[in-house]
Amino acid sequence: MTDPAGHHALDADDPLAPYRDRFVGADQPLVYFDGNSLGRPLAVTGPRLARFVEAEWGGRLIRGWDEGWLELPQVIGDDLGRVVLGAAPGQTVVGDSTTVLLYKLMRAAVAARPGRTEIVIDRDNFPTDRYVAAGIADECGLTLRWIDVDLDAGVTAAQLEAAVGPDTALVVLSHVAYRSAWLADLPALTAIAHDAGALVLWDLCHSAGSVPVALDAAGVDLAVGCTYKYLNGGPGAPAFAYVASRHLGELTQPIQGWMGAVDTFLMGPTYAPAPGIRRFLSGTPPIVGMLAMQDMLALVEEAGIDAVRTKSVALTSYAVDVADELLAPIGVTLASPRDPALRGGHVTLNHPLMREVTAALWQRDVIPDYRDPHGLRIGLSPLSTSFAEVRRGLELVRETLEQMTA
Ligand SMILES: *Cc1c(COP(=O)(O)O)cnc(C)c1O
Repeated sequence: MTDPAGHHALDADDPLAPYRDRFVGADQPLVYFDGNSLGRPLAVTGPRLARFVEAEWGGRLIRGWDEGWLELPQVIGDDLGRVVLGAAPGQTVVGDSTTVLLYKLMRAAVAARPGRTEIVIDRDNFPTDRYVAAGIADECGLTLRWIDVDLDAGVTAAQLEAAVGPDTALVVLSHVAYRSAWLADLPALTAIAHDAGALVLWDLCHSAGSVPVALDAAGVDLAVGCTYKYLNGGPGAPAFAYVASRHLGELTQPIQGWMGAVDTFLMGPTYAPAPGIRRFLSGTPPIVGMLAMQDMLALVEEAGIDAVRTKSVALTSYAVDVADELLAPIGVTLASPRDPALRGGHVTLNHPLMREVTAALWQRDVIPDYRDPHGLRIGLSPLSTSFAEVRRGLELVRETLEQMTA
């Protein structure tokens, strides 16, 4: 057995430990292993939303649109670019859901590569990414070229090299695999897509706010991500889209709404896209839904995304160590990369009974989630999770599994 009190030292030495107290519920014994699906709210967010209702919505009424709301999708987009995406201003916008933005950007990308007939995507990409790609392939008469991946890992450079070619219009990849947490080599895979003459669209849902991203430096074309996971924007908070500035004049998206038009309030007879990233908007921006993520972005900026990643690696490494110690002896296997350089912010542990274990844990206020086949997914949101929480949660996984197999 490793030192059972090891978590005390890890929490004591953690420079980011004080941030945990800023989240709602951090004072409760509940173990939260799902900050990668729905981040906890910050304590400042409730009063801030109440103030918004009273003072801005209630007080300014429709004047609010002229006093900042109309620009908020781009203002917060630039904040996201600076704090977590490695993107210069003017390339990121907030709005819609990830699914809708995937549609808009994939559709824009394939239209910009006429004559090319294939979209490359992996079979273990997140369902919505695969479904949207399949719909666009049907709509546009394209073929999906599937990459088969190891469920405990993800897309490698060799696999992508074998899949792309002169027919590839677009490559769609997740930066961190939702099941295994495989951290794709974003710069290398982007370069492979480009060498084939294709565009690349990265889904950052499981990296934004936990793994630093350098979109500009890697020459990425397009990216999307959600803000209710590691960015704590709240259930259904709007997503973000990134389009590299070199493409902004060339790409147009299929949902031509007035908010993405060149002059929204001219209300002219025909649509002409706005210059810049604003053309990727369609309808009225969801202002209320953007406020919570602003609070979290401020916190991530204060802590620094590199420090957040350092803690994330420490948390997942500790979870792997504790799983080796407590769970491997009773038949649990690691379904995530062991090398932290290849792993995002969560750890998946397999056992044939994990579906039942997850249901039993929820009853005991330990909240992981379950992913087929047999995976218990331990999501460790760096700023709101302590090492003691990891230890306690995994001890309860062991206890639950022992009771079920007794
Ligand atoms: C969570 C997640 C989504 C969610 O899409 P929504 O439109 O917000 O429901 C999409 N892609 C990936 C990779 C995800 O992890």
